Amino acid sequence: MKHREFWFIVGSQDLYGQEVLDTVAARSAEMAAELSAVLPYPLVYKVTARSNQEITDVIKEANYRDECAGIITWCHTFSPSKMWINGLAALQKPYCHLATQYNVEIPNEAIDMDFMNLNQSAHGDREHGFIAARLRLPRKVIAGHWKDDAVRNRLGDWMKAAVGAAVSKETKIMRFGDNMREVAVTEGDKVEAQIRLGWQVNTWAVGDLTKKMAAVTEAQIDALMDEYAAAYDIATDNTAAIRYQAREEIAIKAMMDAEGCIGFTNTFQDLYGMEQLPGLASQHLMAQGYGFGAEGDWKVSALTAIMKAMGKDGNGASAFMEDYTYHLVKDNEYSLGAHMLEVCPSLAAERPRIETHHLGIGMNEKDPARLVFEGKPGPAIVATLIDMGGRFRLIVQDIEVVKPILPMPNLPVARVMWKALPDLTTGVECWIAAGGAHHSVLSYDVTAGMMRDFARMTNIEFVHIGADSTPEKLEEELLVKDLIWKLK
Ligand code: MN
Repeated sequence: MKHREFWFIVGSQDLYGQEVLDTVAARSAEMAAELSAVLPYPLVYKVTARSNQEITDVIKEANYRDECAGIITWCHTFSPSKMWINGLAALQKPYCHLATQYNVEIPNEAIDMDFMNLNQSAHGDREHGFIAARLRLPRKVIAGHWKDDAVRNRLGDWMKAAVGAAVSKETKIMRFGDNMREVAVTEGDKVEAQIRLGWQVNTWAVGDLTKKMAAVTEAQIDALMDEYAAAYDIATDNTAAIRYQAREEIAIKAMMDAEGCIGFTNTFQDLYGMEQLPGLASQHLMAQGYGFGAEGDWKVSALTAIMKAMGKDGNGASAFMEDYTYHLVKDNEYSLGAHMLEVCPSLAAERPRIETHHLGIGMNEKDPARLVFEGKPGPAIVATLIDMGGRFRLIVQDIEVVKPILPMPNLPVARVMWKALPDLTTGVECWIAAGGAHHSVLSYDVTAGMMRDFARMTNIEFVHIGADSTPEKLEEELLVKDLIWKLK
């Protein structure tokens, strides 16, 4: 994982004298150090800026430095915002305005005009907010005391979204084969995706992969078999099938790593020279943080990799997912999500089992090995990215994952059961009205708020379906957004 950090840029001016500036600098450094200890990424205090030149210089440097994933600004004192214009107009990194103040209380006895000159964030942050609004800069405003847990959590979530945006700009996806024939929603404009999101999406021959597979050694397979045995229960006698998946995994990983790719796609319609669709192989690659999209779905592969990177410790519980079938019993309604094989074990409620079963779809000569498990209960989201023609729309829905209400003993794949919000049928109506795909990324530790931040940072359309959604409100929202995005 690359080192990522955020820069704390504190606004002031020369009017107050050196003593005040020294106090501001010392306090800002103290705040950055204390916040770094609790936030998911370091916050590095850079400058108490007093002039146009200082602000322009630090923002140019922030743009240039790869390790800087975003800037966080704050005004301890007043900081006239015309001196921020040149710098902010050039800003290319995510931007958060932390509207806080050093002290938590107004000191009843101690407050005088000296105190007011030093501690006037309420004043300075309004001036600062105006210029960002005037410049139409996409940014996040977080208000509250910097020691408050809710403020720190929101700041941490924003940082993770900004890291997602940084990963997005570096994302390379390796495609084996094209999209599944005739499918529309997995298609998209790869040039627009690179312009907007930075994604480099290119194809490699399945023949190159099978050549690479042939070169994998038995010793390499033995080592990966040990890893499988340590992480999963082996519930099949068909060791050859598992070893074949290990061979596929090693070859796919080697090809991705050689090209710097963080995700891949394949399709069951193009497995020429392969005996099995990669099941366990894809699942174990996802567990290591790689993105995956089936049926050539490069959009969901990239989104999976990015959302994993946004999650806990840079590889959170996020996974490629597909809506499959419903349980429509009145007042007891659920969606069942799964895939032919490829569900990431980061979702698992229990230790996954490796099983082999016949797979009727696609060109599988042999029964593919796959991990079988249930998804863990808890609040989560599903996210999908669709190409509206001229722009991308990111759709995020809040869901509540439950322990599957049925054991489904003959279902030979990993499964996740959930209730969509606000309720299953309204949620489905909203998702379908917005054009949401059957493929999505299901995540337990990336929130809708983080995805909203990500969409703002990358300048793509964002649609959220949650507890307050209605089809009527959504219809109006989609009409308005369609007009706005045609103008953008
Ligand atoms: Mn699919």
